[in-house]
Amino acid sequence: MGEEPIKKISENEPFHFDCQREVPCFNLCCRDLNKFLTPYDIIRLKNHLNMPSRLFLERYTETHIGPQTRLPVITLKSGAGNERECPFVTPFGCSVYEDRPSSCRTYPIIRILSRNQESGERRIQYALLKEPHCRGFEQSRQVTAREWMTGQGLDPFNEMNDLMMGIISLKNRNMPGYLNDDVKRLFFTLCYDMDAFRAGGCKSGGRFIEIPDSVIDDDTNLLRFGMAYLEQNVFSITV
Ligand code: SF4
Ligand code: SF4
Repeated sequence: MGEEPIKKISENEPFHFDCQREVPCFNLCCRDLNKFLTPYDIIRLKNHLNMPSRLFLERYTETHIGPQTRLPVITLKSGAGNERECPFVTPFGCSVYEDRPSSCRTYPIIRILSRNQESGERRIQYALLKEPHCRGFEQSRQVTAREWMTGQGLDPFNEMNDLMMGIISLKNRNMPGYLNDDVKRLFFTLCYDMDAFRAGGCKSGGRFIEIPDSVIDDDTNLLRFGMAYLEQNVFSITV
């Protein structure tokens, strides 16, 4: 029997992996795209491209409704060709490398966050995903999950993505199933369309949401504020 594609590992367990321009599979994982973008990914990418969030979303993404959560989810639009390549891939690598999305940084690690329902205690587990096309596992470099994530600059992504997971869990617990269009629109603007949110185009329950001066100029703080608003004013209400 062949090796399992997913293998649990501990945070400090070394494994062989490296990814750089010399690997024979260079850029292969930037094709056949099915890439979800988190709210923080969108902030990093639209700022890298110096674009308002609405234009970035229209040009580079597609919006779907999650089959279980019923919340809007965003994926990166792939190229029209057979290879369905990422819009940011070039023969020399990733053109948005400094601000590439969290999933591009995290591979080959799978990071699973869970919370004890009674104590609320957080637990993070790790696994390795070995995809057949990826030759990174044949490289001599040894690295641990912790070292990989630090090296990939994942700490700010994980912090913001974990907050988002908390909002989704709260919604699933308190408002399972159907969501009306107003709530979907509000969620989309507060999580994904920072520049529309900042411009004041956001209403909730007939009231405009007042944004404090302390967060208005910083996309990440504005996202934190928007997620806290959803947590306290929208999804905390049990239906
Ligand atoms: S964003 Fe960069 S690393 Fe991620 S799939 Fe696209 S080209 Fe590849
Ligand atoms: S397939 Fe693996 S080793 Fe090759 S470029 Fe992608 S992540 Fe790196």
